[in-house]
Amino acid sequence: MNTISPTTASEASAFPVVERVETMLVDLPTIRPHKLSVATMNGQTLMLVKVHCSDGVVGIGEGTTIGGLAYGGESPEGMKLAIDTYFQPLMLGQDASAVRALMLRIGKMVKENRFAKCAVETALLDAHGKRLGLPVSAFLGGRLRSRLPVAWTLASGDTARDIAEAEKMLDLRRHKIFKLKIGAKPLLDDIRHVAAIKRALGDRGAVRVDVNMAWSETEAAYGMAAMSDAGCELVEQPVASAAALARLVRRFPTALMADESLQGAESAFELAKLGGADVFAIKIEQSGGLFNAQRVAAIADAAGIGLYGGTMLEGAFGTIASAHVFSTFNQLQWGTELFGPLLLTEEILTTPLDYSDFELTVPNGPGLGIELDEERVAFFVRDGLRKTISLSE
Ligand SMILES: [Mg+2]
Repeated sequence: MNTISPTTASEASAFPVVERVETMLVDLPTIRPHKLSVATMNGQTLMLVKVHCSDGVVGIGEGTTIGGLAYGGESPEGMKLAIDTYFQPLMLGQDASAVRALMLRIGKMVKENRFAKCAVETALLDAHGKRLGLPVSAFLGGRLRSRLPVAWTLASGDTARDIAEAEKMLDLRRHKIFKLKIGAKPLLDDIRHVAAIKRALGDRGAVRVDVNMAWSETEAAYGMAAMSDAGCELVEQPVASAAALARLVRRFPTALMADESLQGAESAFELAKLGGADVFAIKIEQSGGLFNAQRVAAIADAAGIGLYGGTMLEGAFGTIASAHVFSTFNQLQWGTELFGPLLLTEEILTTPLDYSDFELTVPNGPGLGIELDEERVAFFVRDGLRKTISLSE
């Protein structure tokens, strides 16, 4: 097998090496049930990974999923197991500052597992930034913006409650772009729901919908037309297949965004080739890491496809890792949905993130530029009995 040669003792003194890789599951409640077509979330589990290096620096990364295994092939528990069992032996004793070489080494021995790879890459970049006194965005070519527009997802499942929630967000000047999760109910109910919310908000708030692949192609054709009539500006992943997406693009004034179809750079290339989307929702976990998210963005740029910064409902570490990447994109016409930490009842940072004036500030300190509140997290680390995510049928 073609692997990168192991570190020798003499080389080890020249650079910091990975000494220990620590993983933990942190179960946090959400502020309300979050209803998607694939699952109802009552909590979120963060898989945190700490990479301890020989120079005393510790980097932190995060992996999350939406509704356990309801959204994709990886779960927080599976990520922990993959890192403990398969990633760690490949990382110990290796140069912690050669991030891409180390990720390449892992990639040769570990197929798939994009979310777990993203968590580990985040931790390595956080450590390297702390080591050199530079923000993670500096290793991604440098930021083009320090503030990112943040959409809010209305997913209580109740129209009146969603309108009240949107009004509150407008009053707080926290969000003015609203994404509605639909697809779990009959099509006509969803259409009425979206139209009522857009009518209530008028020009004060933009309305978009995420169907999470729940529609058939026929439903999607009807639904897209109805969404255009309702004043909805964007429909996200209405159907599962890339070919069906391509048949729907530009038949309606409403933009079509791909999300679940994007499973890394190769899938992004295939989708771009098919002309299967107006917009890509780029997620660092689905892309397989921060560098790979930049590759997906480059494909979108080359294909004339717009960009949107997506979320796997990460907590602070995954959210800020995403923010560093999105800050480097040439264009970000559709903003971001980096609201994950705001969906959680508990603060896990010593200093909260800055969400203000409809935007999130990208931290400028070393590494990710945020600090874990260790005591607080110790309280929420899974004890083996807790179970905060309940899946709908
Ligand atoms: Mg989505």
